[in-house]
Amino acid sequence: MSNLCYHNAQGVCREKDIKERGANRLESSQALINKYPWLDIGDDEYTLIDLLPDGWYDLAWGLCIELRNALPPHLIDKYKVAEAKEKYYMLRWYDYIDDFGEMPEDIVDIVCKYEEKSRGVCMICGAPKPKDQPFCDYCMESRNM
Ligand SMILES: [Zn+2]
Repeated sequence: MSNLCYHNAQGVCREKDIKERGANRLESSQALINKYPWLDIGDDEYTLIDLLPDGWYDLAWGLCIELRNALPPHLIDKYKVAEAKEKYYMLRWYDYIDDFGEMPEDIVDIVCKYEEKSRGVCMICGAPKPKDQPFCDYCMESRNM
């Protein structure tokens, strides 16, 4: 975890949320992977979501829930994410279907929608932000940017 300050745009500290998440992590990561197999990064404690910036936690879950609902049952175990990361302050989600299967169009649309949405969400605190700014006003100010 980074040393950034976890406050949202209203100045409310989110550190407690993040700590609670950490406590929930151990017992639930296996359950999460059973339901969302693409989150498996071969670790007992962490999932793919934990590799993303904290401010995008809700965004990333929104994406996973929509994917789970949209994926046909026979593709759930074949849907893979090669890499998920931040690039130019935007979420990048590189997915594929195992065995050279074709990616359903609605899955492509969902991923595009969330990648675009990430441009409007501060990756530090999760508050809304202008798309042309790397972080929200509060986080920019608190980091003297
Ligand atoms: Zn922020």
